[in-house]
Amino acid sequence: MINFNVPPYTGHELEYIKECVEAQKICGDGKFTKKCNAWLEEKTGVSKCLLTTSCTHATEMAALLADIKEGDEVIMPSYTFVSTADAFVLRGAKAVFVDIRPDTMNIDERKIEAAITSKTRAIVPVHYAGVGCEMDTIMDIAERKGLVVIEDAAQGIMSTYKGKALGAIGDMGCFSFHETKNYSMGEGGALLMRDSKYVEEAEIIREKGTDRSRFFRGQVDKYTWVNYGSSYLPSDMNAAYLYAQLEMADEINDARKKIWNTYYRELKPLEEAGLITLPTIPEGCVHNAHMFYIKAKDFEERTKLISFLKANDILSVFHYIPLHSSPAGIKFGRFEGEDEYTTRESERLTRLPLYYGLTEEQNMYIIGKVKEFYKC
Ligand SMILES: *Cc1c(COP(=O)(O)O)cnc(C)c1O
Repeated sequence: MINFNVPPYTGHELEYIKECVEAQKICGDGKFTKKCNAWLEEKTGVSKCLLTTSCTHATEMAALLADIKEGDEVIMPSYTFVSTADAFVLRGAKAVFVDIRPDTMNIDERKIEAAITSKTRAIVPVHYAGVGCEMDTIMDIAERKGLVVIEDAAQGIMSTYKGKALGAIGDMGCFSFHETKNYSMGEGGALLMRDSKYVEEAEIIREKGTDRSRFFRGQVDKYTWVNYGSSYLPSDMNAAYLYAQLEMADEINDARKKIWNTYYRELKPLEEAGLITLPTIPEGCVHNAHMFYIKAKDFEERTKLISFLKANDILSVFHYIPLHSSPAGIKFGRFEGEDEYTTRESERLTRLPLYYGLTEEQNMYIIGKVKEFYKC
């Protein structure tokens, strides 16, 4: 059976975890957390990056830092993971869903302005499959309307838009290091802050509302409760696992790109024959091969394709059920404008296995089976 995902493993993880254990320093903000933060700052160019317990938690922190309150509205795509909405709904805000573009499955930047009301406070672009949203347009709207931009870059580490790292373009950005992502720590994430204005408060919120970070830097002589907060810092053992992968980030990225490019090249004739649709990478976007998806004609054909692949020992999986049609989405959100593509395109899409370690032979076997399904 070819799994859909296998968590990344480079070989140094256990050695680094052992180092934490032997040094008897396994709580948060230890040596490896600092190394990861520094690596991410260097790679993305943001003022500050803080490792968190998940991307969901990084987004919750961003919602707190942006001071999202009861009755506020936050614009986002409906085609996304629940956490994009959850973080804001938890603060009492309404999720305002906007349609996606069929070519990238990202929020349609041309439909954002029509969804803005006097209650709108933030825009949350989600970089689906690690392919950048049209950030110039989004940043321009946000600037003109005085809105905060929080990038859900859960899938976007190592990707760029016009030379800028995804997650580092908006006011804040959120990465995920869940085991399904390109680099992992089991469960984990990071909050990226472009400017330094949020940093002090972010450190406090992440440390249960205390100024413990300042204390450790020797800036205050005791630490105390100074604001609301929670416990958003991961164990250094998880950071140790992640650091082993960040050290080999390029190698992992290259291996993923090779698989992605093989899928694309070999399945292109099927697209040219009008049988399937392949992902589009807009000009100016460099992606991280987070995902390779194909779109079948419709829901029925996709169901048959997934079954056919499964019968041939290949696990391919569909993705999000649009949030606006879920029970919580109906309760906490509203879809603004027409759902031209969100539902239709989500029903056609299936993701093919792609992970660090997938062999060329497996890659070609999967391609062969997709071709066989389409009698091509
Ligand atoms: C994975 C993912 C998340 C959640 O990440 P966690 O680290 O599991 O909290 C949020 N948004 C998107 C788009 C994701 O792909």
